[in-house]
Amino acid sequence: MSLLVVGSIAFDSLETPHGKVDRTLGGAATYFSVAASFFTPVSLVGVVGEDFTKREEEIFRGRRIDISGLESAPGKTFFWAGRYGADPNERVTLATELNVFADFRPKLLDSHRQARNVFLANIDPNLQRSVLDQIDGRPRLVGLDTMNYWIENTPAELRHILGRTHVLMINDAETRMLSNEHNLLRAARHIFKMGPKTLVIKRGEHGAMMVDSKGVFCVPAFPLEEVHDPTGAGDSFAGGFLGSLASCEQAGEYELRRAMIYGSVMGSFCVEQFGTERLQALNRGEINARYRLFRELMHFD
Ligand code: AMP
Repeated sequence: MSLLVVGSIAFDSLETPHGKVDRTLGGAATYFSVAASFFTPVSLVGVVGEDFTKREEEIFRGRRIDISGLESAPGKTFFWAGRYGADPNERVTLATELNVFADFRPKLLDSHRQARNVFLANIDPNLQRSVLDQIDGRPRLVGLDTMNYWIENTPAELRHILGRTHVLMINDAETRMLSNEHNLLRAARHIFKMGPKTLVIKRGEHGAMMVDSKGVFCVPAFPLEEVHDPTGAGDSFAGGFLGSLASCEQAGEYELRRAMIYGSVMGSFCVEQFGTERLQALNRGEINARYRLFRELMHFD
């Protein structure tokens, strides 16, 4: 079943202890759609500026990614710059230039209104809402990401969209901020009252934790000797997770746990090289092989 994503498409300038890259194609929706397209067809809704050329478009070509919802607007594409130190979980934002993103009002094509699975990547909750409002009926699966800025500045709007979300995918700091609870399990209970029935907490090099009414499921981060660039790991995780769920007839406990592994697999590949480089070179055989390694890593009896 197809999966619709709305979110940022960006030029990113990145600095890590392993090197530097200037204006590489990134953005939450880019990482998400490339990762998810290994599992299911994806429709991408977003905006780019005049500096986004056919060359950049190439990343989506030859994959199961429909870019008919990619709007081109006068001006520059969203730009983000970030720096990481020795701890890949800690990053400093050096620049955020909204550019064409500032006036973005997502307009769904008729063919996208039927979407059954939706990922609302980290953007203004009002825009996330407008996307859901344009979808016919109630989608079977709505995943959502957000960040500290929206938790602090648009709490009412965020509350509204959380009421229409099935799976909330945020990091541990955001979980604590949203719930006002330090303990993650207590925080999860708090968040369930806001709407989502499943909370996926992304914890960078500490892995990921899923909490729902059935209990808790934890996945380690795949042990890598070198993390070249952590950018996009969270969105690649979300792509693997929701892509795998969208490809299933039902999303029961087994499918959710398996989605956690596929999410971790995609996040772990993403960080092996700068930007989207590793995801672009990836094939399904490598995904399957790492999935098996994860099973071995977690096996115990
Ligand atoms: P992640 O590392 O998974 O949290 O996502 C990194 C991506 O998010 C980068 O490629 C950025 O272009 C994008 N990004 C950074 N800040 C924002 C923002 N305020 N809104 C939307 N996307 C953003």
